[in-house]
Amino acid sequence: MTTMSIRTCPLCEATCGLELTIEDGSVKVIRGDKEDVFSHGFICPKGTTLGRLHEDPDRLRAPLIKKNSEFVEVSWDEAIAAAGAGLRAIIDAHGASATAAYVGNPNVHNLAGSLYLRPLLKALGSPNVFSASTVDQMPKHVSCGAMFGSPDLIPVPDIDRTDYLLMLGADPYESNGSLATAPDWPGRMAAIQERGGKIVTVDPRKSKTAKASDEHLFIRPGTDAAWVAALITTVLEAGDVELPDFMIGLADAKEALAGFTAESVAAATTIPAETTRRIAVEFATAPSAVAYGRMGTHTTEYGTLASWLVDLLNAVTGNLDSPGGAMFPMAAIVTPQAAPGGRGFQTGRYRSRVGGHPEVRGEMPSAALVEEIQTPGEGQVRALLVVGGNPARSIPDSERVEAALDQLEFMVAVDVYLTETARHADVVLPPPSVLERSHFDVAFTSLMVRNTANYSPPTFEKPDDHPAEWEILLALTAAIQGNDLPVAHMDEAGAAALLAKALTNPASPAFGTDQVVAWDEVSRFTGPQRILDIRLRTGPYGDGFGTNPDGLSLQKLIDNPHGIDLGPLEPRLPLASNNPDGQVHLAPSEFVADLPRLAAILDTPSTPFVLVGRRQLRSNNSWMHNVEVLVKGKERCTLMMNPADADVLGVDPGGSVTVTSEAGQVDAPVELSEDIMPGVVSLPHGWGHDDPEARLTVAARRPGVNSNVLSNRTDIDPLSGNARLNGIPVELALVSSHRAG
Ligand code: SF4
Repeated sequence: MTTMSIRTCPLCEATCGLELTIEDGSVKVIRGDKEDVFSHGFICPKGTTLGRLHEDPDRLRAPLIKKNSEFVEVSWDEAIAAAGAGLRAIIDAHGASATAAYVGNPNVHNLAGSLYLRPLLKALGSPNVFSASTVDQMPKHVSCGAMFGSPDLIPVPDIDRTDYLLMLGADPYESNGSLATAPDWPGRMAAIQERGGKIVTVDPRKSKTAKASDEHLFIRPGTDAAWVAALITTVLEAGDVELPDFMIGLADAKEALAGFTAESVAAATTIPAETTRRIAVEFATAPSAVAYGRMGTHTTEYGTLASWLVDLLNAVTGNLDSPGGAMFPMAAIVTPQAAPGGRGFQTGRYRSRVGGHPEVRGEMPSAALVEEIQTPGEGQVRALLVVGGNPARSIPDSERVEAALDQLEFMVAVDVYLTETARHADVVLPPPSVLERSHFDVAFTSLMVRNTANYSPPTFEKPDDHPAEWEILLALTAAIQGNDLPVAHMDEAGAAALLAKALTNPASPAFGTDQVVAWDEVSRFTGPQRILDIRLRTGPYGDGFGTNPDGLSLQKLIDNPHGIDLGPLEPRLPLASNNPDGQVHLAPSEFVADLPRLAAILDTPSTPFVLVGRRQLRSNNSWMHNVEVLVKGKERCTLMMNPADADVLGVDPGGSVTVTSEAGQVDAPVELSEDIMPGVVSLPHGWGHDDPEARLTVAARRPGVNSNVLSNRTDIDPLSGNARLNGIPVELALVSSHRAG
C-alpha cells in the first residue's frame, strides 16, 4: 500500500516541507513539498535521508545498561529506574552541584526536547548546565539580551526584501542558514540579485556562498568585529544619524568606537581602507540593507562584540526593525506583550566553580566541562546527564573530554545512537525515531524570515512498548525527584499551570477565557501537542478559544499540513523591548568596556597559520555521518590549504600534514584550494568517528579527524563563554607529501 506523509524536516534550521512516499511501511522516496508555504519544494541532500535514519540498523531501539563493561538491553522501567537512582545517589551523597547536564543541538529541532527539558534540568538542580550554544550562537543571545532585553529577541535578515546583504562568517549555501530560518538560501539570494540588489560576503574562504555573491572580501579570521566597528565609524563620520528616541546610547557608541577606522583596521583585517569606506557608503545609502554575521564571527574570542556591532551597524544606518533590514519575527507561540519593558537580561548571577566563568542563560561555557569533572574539591562533577549531544566530538579539547567522561562515577545519555559520547554512559535511553515523532519548530519560528507556522504529526506510529521522548524525559524527571507520580499526571499539572498563566495575559486573545472551558478544549490532546495547542491559541495569532475564530490552534495546523503563512515581518520596536526602561540600548556598558581587548588585535602580529572551520552540506555537526549516501565518494574531512602555503610546506594534494595547536594535534589529508586565504587552513567539524566502542558502523569506515582536538578550552569569549573555534593559531608539519599508496 502506498501512502503520503507531509512533514517538516527537523534536521536543520531551514524547516523545509517534505513529501514522503511510504510503501508497505517503509519510506520509498522523499521530495520537497511544493505546496509548503515557506519552502515551496526546496530540499537538500540531508532531507532525502530521513527514511535511512529511521531504518538505520545502528539506531538504538531499546534502552541499554552497562553491566560488567558491556551494554545490555533492558526494559524501560529498569533503565529509567537505574538512571534516576544513579543520579539521585550522587545528589544525595555530594549535592546537586556534583552533577552536570550537557544538552545538544538536536533538542532545539525537536518538540519534546524544546518543551520538556526545563523540568528535567530543574529536577537535577545543578548549576552545571552546558550546551552546544557555547560552541555556536551564545554571543548572539548575549548581545541581543543587552540591546533588546531578551536573549531570544534576535533580529534576522529580511532577505526577501533587502537591497543589500552583507554577510560575515556565514555560508548558507552549505549550512542552509542559521539564526535566520529561510529554506532555499540560494534561491532567495538569487532573488536579491534579480531585483537589482547586491550581496557582499566577507570570509577567509571563498565559499560557495561567496562565489554566488556579487563581491567577496577575504578577512583575517577573528577580526570581523574590528572591521564592522570601522564600518560604523565611517558611517557616523559621514554625517548626523537620526534614530528613534527609544534607541539610546548612540553618542557613547560613537565615542567608544572612534579608534576603529578604515585605516586602523586595514592591516589586521587585510581589507584595504578604501574598500571599507566604499562598503560603508554602499551599505548606508542602499534603499535597504542588512548585515548578518554567523559562525565565523560568533565562534571567536570577540564573538559578542561582533554580534553587537553587526546589529549596531544595522541600527545606525536605519536598517534595524525596518523592512529589508534586520527584523524581529513574530512567532506563533510567542507570549504577546502589552507594553514595552520587562525584566531585562543579565549574566553572571553565579559563577563556575573552577574557572569562575559567569553564568549565561543559566549555562556555563561547554569548554569548562572538563575542568569541572577533573578538578577535585567540593562540587566536583561526578555524574553527567547528556541529552542529544556529543561533547566528545563537539566541544573544545576533545581528547581531555573523553578522559573526563571516563572519570565520571555515573552517566546517563538520552540518544538514538551509541555515539562517541553515549558509549561512556552507564544508562542509554533512546527516544523513538525522527519519523515516529510529531514536530513543530518551537525555536525556529522565532528566527523565520517570514512568519509561518507548520505542524507535522508522526509519519509512523512508534512501537507500543517504546515511550515517546517527552514521556522518557518526564519519567526521568520523576525518577530523579524520587516521586512515583504517573507521567500523565505530571504532564497534566504542567499544562494546566501554563494555561492558567496564559489566560491572565491581557495581551493574549484568550485573556479572560474561562479556564475550565479552555482546559476542556485543549485536553483532547496530551503531551507536547497540548502544550502547543495552549501556546498557539493564546499566542499573537491565536483563536483565543473563540475570540478570534480565524486564529490559530493546533487543529488548524493539522488541517493545513503545508503550513500557514502569517505574512512578512513587521516592525516590532519599541513594544518588543524587554529592557526595564523599554528602550533599545545601542552601547551596553559591558560591551564598551570590552573594546580595548578588541583594539589590542590591531597591533598584534598575526601568527603564521590560523585554523578555521567550514560547514558541509552533507554533514550536520557530528551526526548524519552514519548515512551512507551522505558520506560516500570523495574524502570530505580534509585540511583545506592555499597552494602557496602548500608549496612552502612541500605538500601535494592528497599528502598529509600534522596540525598542532596549544590544545592538541591531528594528522589530516590536504586539499589545495585558491579559495582559502594564504595563512589560513580549514577543517570541517564533527568528524573523528574512530572510537571502536561507539556503534556507528558507516561513520567508522570514513572517520575523518576531530577538529575539536585542536580547540583550546581556555580560549573563550569572556562575555558569552563561547569557545573560539575559528582563528586558532596552529603549526603545520609535513607527514607525507603525496597520497599514500
Ligand atoms: S535544508 Fe535543512 S531542513 Fe531543508 S531538507 Fe535540508 S536538512 Fe532538511
